[in-house]
Amino acid sequence: MYSMWNLWHGCHKVSEGCLHCYVYRRDSRYDIDSSQVRKTQSFNLPVARKRDGTYKVPPHTTLWTCFTSDFFISEADQWRDEAWAMIHARPDVNFILITKRIDRVAECLPDDWGDGYDNVTLYCTVENQKRADMRLPVFKRLPFKHKCIICEPLLGPISLGRWLGEWVEEVSVGGESGPEARPCDFKWVMQIRADCVAANVPFFFKQTGANFIKDGKTYKIPRKLQSAQARKAAIDTI
Ligand code: SF4
Repeated sequence: MYSMWNLWHGCHKVSEGCLHCYVYRRDSRYDIDSSQVRKTQSFNLPVARKRDGTYKVPPHTTLWTCFTSDFFISEADQWRDEAWAMIHARPDVNFILITKRIDRVAECLPDDWGDGYDNVTLYCTVENQKRADMRLPVFKRLPFKHKCIICEPLLGPISLGRWLGEWVEEVSVGGESGPEARPCDFKWVMQIRADCVAANVPFFFKQTGANFIKDGKTYKIPRKLQSAQARKAAIDTI
C-alpha cells in the first residue's frame, strides 16, 4: 500500500527542474505564497492513531513524503528532528524521501542515524548532466541503506554511466507535465536505460511528460495518459 505524507508545505526553486514547479502552479490558483514554508496538519501522520488504538497508517505502508516541499529545506530544520523520531518509531513503514538538496542531507541527519535507518529510501533528483555531476558524487557518499536516482523532469541527455553501481537500487525517468512543459526526448530516456542495463541497475520509465519527442516528432500527451504511454514503451527492467 502506498500513501503520501506532506509534513510541510512550501519551497524555493533551486535548479532548472524547478522552473515550472507544480506546487507553485497549483498554489497560484488559490493565491497561496508557495515560498512560505509551514508545517501541515498531516505532520503527525505516521504516529496518529484511530479510536481503537491502531495506527492510521497501517504496517507495511510505503509513505512518499514531501510532495509539496523538500524534506531537507532549511526552513524545516526546526521540525526535522521530530520527523526523524516519527520515522524511527515506525520501522514497519517504508519512508521515501525525494530531494534536490542533496548538499544539505549530511547536516540534517539525526544523532542515532549510524549508517542509516532500514526503513528509509532516499531519492536524489537530477534533471540534466550538470545536476547529475554536482549531486551524484555527494549522494554516493551519504550513509543511506537505500538509494535511488530520479531523472525527472528530464530536460536533456544525461550520461549516468560513471555514477552507477551497486549502491543505486533504481533509476526512474520522467518528462515534465503542465502547460509550459519542456520536451522530453525518447532518445534521452533510452540512453539512461542503456547506462542502467550496462551497470545492472533497475530502470523504470515513469511517464512521458506532456511534450514527448520520438523519432524527431513531438507528441502532446494528456496528463492522464503519460504513465500509460510510458508503460506501452515496455522498456522497464524492474
Ligand atoms: S525542489 Fe521540488 S517542490 Fe521545491 S521548488 Fe523545486 S520542484 Fe518545487
